[in-house]
Amino acid sequence: MITVKSEREIETMRRAGRIVAGVLDLVRSRAVAGASTWELDRLAEDFILSHQGATPSFKGLYGFPATLCTSINAEVVHGIPSKTRVLEAGDIVSVDVGVCLGGLHADSAITATVGEVAPATRRLLGTTQRALEAGIAVAGAGNHVGDIGYAVQQVAEGAGFSVVRELVGHGIGAQFHEEPQVPNFGRPHRGARLMPGMTLAIEPMINAGGPEVRTLGDRWTVVTADGSLSAHFEHTVAITENGARILTAA
Ligand code: MG
Ligand code: MG
Repeated sequence: MITVKSEREIETMRRAGRIVAGVLDLVRSRAVAGASTWELDRLAEDFILSHQGATPSFKGLYGFPATLCTSINAEVVHGIPSKTRVLEAGDIVSVDVGVCLGGLHADSAITATVGEVAPATRRLLGTTQRALEAGIAVAGAGNHVGDIGYAVQQVAEGAGFSVVRELVGHGIGAQFHEEPQVPNFGRPHRGARLMPGMTLAIEPMINAGGPEVRTLGDRWTVVTADGSLSAHFEHTVAITENGARILTAA
């Protein structure tokens, strides 16, 4: 069932989303060579808990043990922060975080660079960000979920990259994952119709190589099958009559 949120609920999600944006700004500034992903996770959790009533959405969700997902280089999503995972110059690290406030969630992700990265890496990140923007640009009332996926896919594949198929965006609200699923591929005018008050997490996961992924033995970390780099950018948006409103902007 797809739920439609009230103005008041969307405003609460916007407040949760501001905290999410604050976490990502903080973590981006601290994602430097020598930092462990565990340290980033501690910073993120402390920041969230410093806001009255806010809690990390991921901790305990399906049994996930941390506040952040931190996924380095060929890791696509769901990497577990660890004291032994230390960032090195030239790495990219995807940081995904959710915040729950007043019983409602917001969800956003960025891929941060550690020091100087190769031009090809920079292009992957820029393309993934543009793919997210393209998806958001068509997420207005009257369009369909397939329009979002199509827009994301056009940008990603147009740049010679590939779209992960096994993992998708999602509705979000009182539950972290709600209907509908929001794939990063699709056909125009297909899928659920977008209505004012729907709230969606749009989140392209784009690989430099092939689209195939596999899950590591920790049963969480998803990596590219060919070892190529992967980038992830995400915003939570509310559908309005006049397009999508980003709820996880700073
Ligand atoms: Mg997320
Ligand atoms: Mg999400």
